[in-house]
Amino acid sequence: MEERRYLNFNLDHGYPVGKGIYYECIICGDVIPSHPEEGMGCSCRNIFIDVDAGRVSIKNESQFKAFEKREQKGG
Ligand SMILES: [Zn+2]
Repeated sequence: MEERRYLNFNLDHGYPVGKGIYYECIICGDVIPSHPEEGMGCSCRNIFIDVDAGRVSIKNESQFKAFEKREQKGG
């Protein structure tokens, strides 16, 4: 089981990045890590992470969510 805690953040201050933080594309439904080892994006290319440039590109910010994934133990 996993628990998703959606993050509220201010886009003016950039996107949240960190271990355990993931981005969800509402258009194609893909989930990608905010801090991948190499550049990657979602299927529809709404979200793309350029690791070399240290940049997150999001075309449509209204179709984008960020959440923190937490493992649920037991149960
Ligand atoms: Zn997408």
